[in-house]
Amino acid sequence: MKTPIPYYLGQILESVRDEDGGEVAEYIPELANADPDKLAVALCSSTGHVYSAGDAEHEFSIQSISKPFVYALALQELGLDAVRDVVGMEPSGEAFNELSLGRDYRPVNPLINAGAIAVNQLINGVDSSVEDRNARLNEYFSRLAGRDLSVDAGVADSELNHADRNLSLAHMLRNYDIIKDDAHDAVLSYTHQCAIRVDVRDLAVMSATLANGGRQPVTGDKILDADVCRLTLAVMSSCGMYDGAGRWMAEVGIPAKSGVAGGLLGTLPGQLGVATFSPRLNESGNSVRGVEAFKLLSSDMGLHLMSTDNRVGTHPIRSKEEDEDHAVIHLQGHINFSAAEAILYELQGYDLDACRVALDISQVPSLNRVGRRMLKEGLRRLREGGNEIAVIDPDGTLTDRELSDGTVVPLADAEDYHINGEDVRD
Ligand code: GLU
Repeated sequence: MKTPIPYYLGQILESVRDEDGGEVAEYIPELANADPDKLAVALCSSTGHVYSAGDAEHEFSIQSISKPFVYALALQELGLDAVRDVVGMEPSGEAFNELSLGRDYRPVNPLINAGAIAVNQLINGVDSSVEDRNARLNEYFSRLAGRDLSVDAGVADSELNHADRNLSLAHMLRNYDIIKDDAHDAVLSYTHQCAIRVDVRDLAVMSATLANGGRQPVTGDKILDADVCRLTLAVMSSCGMYDGAGRWMAEVGIPAKSGVAGGLLGTLPGQLGVATFSPRLNESGNSVRGVEAFKLLSSDMGLHLMSTDNRVGTHPIRSKEEDEDHAVIHLQGHINFSAAEAILYELQGYDLDACRVALDISQVPSLNRVGRRMLKEGLRRLREGGNEIAVIDPDGTLTDRELSDGTVVPLADAEDYHINGEDVRD
């Protein structure tokens, strides 16, 4: 059986492909050359399973999506008190590049440009040279992505040559002793940070690292403390979408950060990271198709953070028993998107050739809408692959057993599948 998640992601892309509003960013001339039709999505579970659809290998500059990660690095290196000395944690309700500081001259949060420039200056120590700071950032972002990332020198130069606004911010920050470097050097290393090249799979994995309390889920590398991730995600949820942050949390409910090259990253704490790419932007500088794709991810996959339907529990597969012609997979706990993802991933790896397969949901108290849909699609795919399928559901928890092809999954008695074989899960 092949897990249907890449197919779901592909469907989301097809649903937003016709959205052709918005324009590629032009205030950084190099970004104006972007192909406006590129479109991609990727998702990474906190267990490191990565799925994608569309132009997933297309690279683009990370831009503002770097900001929460650099904030996390500053918190990791210096602790909250030192970081709070230069930047607040309140939503600004203003545009990303607003020429404003807070009442005490600190930028109000680390995700607007003023705050991001101030935070960039903390990395590797305030006395660091620009080269050493950039090298530290390259190494850090490469660890987060789990591969060596490069910097798009063309984008960095292009931005630097048109950086009057960011230079004004850096001059203000230096005037009020928030940063030590001169304005040009400060903007030089901030621009470098924004020009790191990534694809959507990198972003999904980086985001899943935040979701996973700082352990990169694919490489297993422990990069950040869980407390740092919690703080970063809290700031992302209140400030990540700038002047649209409140509406975003209400409508989409996934802590997120956008970048002007067209990337959009979202994190569900404890569950997963997700990212989209499409370079046409709305007036607030957010990807038009990316925003629509996130709305679908939130509604169709049940990923709204405030949803009361999103409990996360123990591993959803309690055990698996099998002999030559039967397999019973015993599930447990509430089945939402993340639980169903884990079940489908395991099923994909099992060797279930032409045997009778039953999913035992007698220990599953509930399934949400997306969990039910995904489990049923997994069963349909098993049958398509030649298995005979059934559910063991003595309490009728799977209220609707009709599959997408109109057939109904048969019920089975636990006795029919009684196997004295070995329990193959640890
Ligand atoms: N480097 C861009 C700037 O400072 C980042 C903006 C963004 O991605 O929102 O203008």
